[in-house]
Amino acid sequence: TADVFANDPLWAARPRHVKVRAPGKINAFFQVGPLRPDGYHSVASTYLAVSRYEEVLVTVKPGTDATDITVSIGAGSTLDPVDLANIPLDKGNLAVQAALLVADISANPSGIHIEITKHVPIAGGMGGGSADAAATLVACDALWHTGLSREELSQLGSELGADVPFALLGGAAVGLGIGDKLTAALAPTPLHWVLVPAGFGLSTPVVYGTLDALREASGREVREPEQVEAGVLAALRAGDPHALAPFLRNDLGAAAESLAPALSEVLALGDELGALASLVSGSGPTLAFLASDADDASDLAAALAEHGHQAWAVEGPVHGAAIIP
Ligand code: ATP
Repeated sequence: TADVFANDPLWAARPRHVKVRAPGKINAFFQVGPLRPDGYHSVASTYLAVSRYEEVLVTVKPGTDATDITVSIGAGSTLDPVDLANIPLDKGNLAVQAALLVADISANPSGIHIEITKHVPIAGGMGGGSADAAATLVACDALWHTGLSREELSQLGSELGADVPFALLGGAAVGLGIGDKLTAALAPTPLHWVLVPAGFGLSTPVVYGTLDALREASGREVREPEQVEAGVLAALRAGDPHALAPFLRNDLGAAAESLAPALSEVLALGDELGALASLVSGSGPTLAFLASDADDASDLAAALAEHGHQAWAVEGPVHGAAIIP
């Protein structure tokens, strides 16, 4: 019943709903080491949060407890309805898993409804589900007055996947280890990018498996990554797209292209149309093109659209998960 709000001074002072926005990401640099005996790969990665956001609205259900967590997809979502219909609406949803983690360490967590308005491509290599999880961590902490620090939220997020702590942090960051050792990088000036989503998704484990197979077939030795190329970090510090362009790298790109050969043509088209550099985002299939400035990015997006490709001009780095007042 709603009485829990009216009669209990603690609950009366609490918000009933919280909206959080969390960014998708691209990787400006992604070096992948050989398959390790434990099944993981060591990586050296540079994450950039981009201005393509997920919006998560979490609403308290008065008089219920945390066994009552429901999720729906917001009507304002801008992705293909067929893809949206395939998102799990149970414990398979990363947002629900995030809520359960916060509930576990909250006093008397109530039931909640999570509405996710999706703008980040699904299985697109942009960490959309991770952004939803990050946003839900922040919202539940606020709704349940759990009082977790950013550090504690990040720790919880890492249980769900390496991309969740980054969606909380935002900006630019270096990921080492299996992507779990995250350090913020200085990048004071946003750069301009064009993103081209694909009409399909790629499974991250399948892309890694394909990379391993391609490498095995080539017989070439694969080095363990140690650090992100210094030129990447210098260019980000300087906010200089021309300096960054030659350093863009994604070891997963070849694997994504071999699974989806049409991607290669779109990458070449972007280069032809004036991108400073182009690459597959994360495990793909979303493609990212670097532009000199905002005008060039919007021109490039328009030119790609004329060739029949959906294209979004974005900037990045941008901030991490944040409550919208
Ligand atoms: P990565 O960047 O690691 O490749 P991704 O962004 O490409 O991840 P997501 O869209 O996060 O991939 O999710 C991939 C799969 O996870 C989906 O196919 C879906 O079944 C499942 N999933 C779980 N929760 C969500 C969510 N909130 N949104 C979208 N997909 C989700």
